Amino acid sequence: MSDENLKLPSDQDISGRALGEEELLLLKEVIQSGVLNSTKGTKVSAFEKAFATLCGAKHCTALASGSAAIHAALVALNLDPLSEVITTPITDMGAITPIIYQGCVPVFADVDPFSYNVTAETIRKRITPKTQAIIVTHLFGNPCSMPAIMALAREKKIPVIEDCAQAFLAEVEGKKVGTLGDIGAFSMQQGKHLTTGEGGIVTTDNGDTARRMRLFVNKAWGYGDPNPDHYFLALNYRLTELQGAVALAQVKKLEWVVRQRQAAARRMDEHLAPICGIRIPKPPKNSTHVYWKYCVDVDKEILGFDVAELAQALKNFGIASAPRYIQKPAFRCQVLKDAVTFGGSHYPFTEKQVLAGQDEAWWRREYPGSYQALSRVLVLPWNEFYAEKHVDFIASKIKQCLADLSLVKAK
Ligand SMILES: *Cc1c(COP(=O)(O)O)cnc(C)c1O
Repeated sequence: MSDENLKLPSDQDISGRALGEEELLLLKEVIQSGVLNSTKGTKVSAFEKAFATLCGAKHCTALASGSAAIHAALVALNLDPLSEVITTPITDMGAITPIIYQGCVPVFADVDPFSYNVTAETIRKRITPKTQAIIVTHLFGNPCSMPAIMALAREKKIPVIEDCAQAFLAEVEGKKVGTLGDIGAFSMQQGKHLTTGEGGIVTTDNGDTARRMRLFVNKAWGYGDPNPDHYFLALNYRLTELQGAVALAQVKKLEWVVRQRQAAARRMDEHLAPICGIRIPKPPKNSTHVYWKYCVDVDKEILGFDVAELAQALKNFGIASAPRYIQKPAFRCQVLKDAVTFGGSHYPFTEKQVLAGQDEAWWRREYPGSYQALSRVLVLPWNEFYAEKHVDFIASKIKQCLADLSLVKAK
């Protein structure tokens, strides 16, 4: 049967990327202009304007990566060394290491085991007098419960950075993510909704914050100022005009990309919602999910087998999935567990913190939501080029695997 080997569009190659003539046309203009650098060119700045408009943000700066976006956001807040930044243990490491580069200490809030996101309650538990920022990640394209988080942050007067790398154009109460907190950070890496291969974006409504982020990306050189200087410690994190050209073409496709992913997800919801033991993704009240991935919770108690067994069975049908999005919570990765940072110093972690890092049982007790989430989540790759036949194919194979595994267990 041809169905048996249906090849799914993938974000790792052209089968699942909306890249074509529009990008080539703008790239050609850049090459013919001979201006590849964004300080003189027009494409990066045109992209920034278009993206700001699309998101409803006052200011937008494009930069070299999602990691650079988080870094620029932290620098804009001008945090003191050894202050604490609350973040999530289920995210990309590029969202965590900039905290350490700024000499600050990442402090982890647990996640809700079904949304995989931090919550106002889990953040509140980790706030201390040293907390100077909160980073929330809208994981897999599903927004955090922002009204409660922002109420807490305002009460405590702590700025919020939204990591929107996986959640382009997701909405909370009619506003786009990246405009709810103080700063939004995005990634344009190969697998994200909008891609330039590598790249990132920061958004804000605050003029001073915007200026600091733009300066940080430009070695803090005051381009356009009457008496420019290098005002503070900063790097070159600029995007090139080549990437700017691709970004400008991509941004015009972004709403389509999101709509396609949502339509495919609606269809998958219909297939999977009736299945006992499988829980489909659900955004919080008054929020929209943009499906960077399509994740389901697999309940071993009900089904009699766990997510790893289901993932293996799916793999036999050519359906890749990550039974866990990441192998382990960020705090169990070597860089954090052993505080492998600057020379032999472990800075900014104390010896006491390094010792505590070795005690896995403590982490398991303190982060039950994160451990539960990682032990039960099935992460299905999702794509704007999934047609009905692709969704139906994946759903039918999931149902077949569930039936096969139940039979095996019943024996
Ligand atoms: C991709 C990603 C990043 C890092 O972006 P890079 O462009 O790879 O540096 C940060 N946070 C999240 C949530 C991501 O998905």
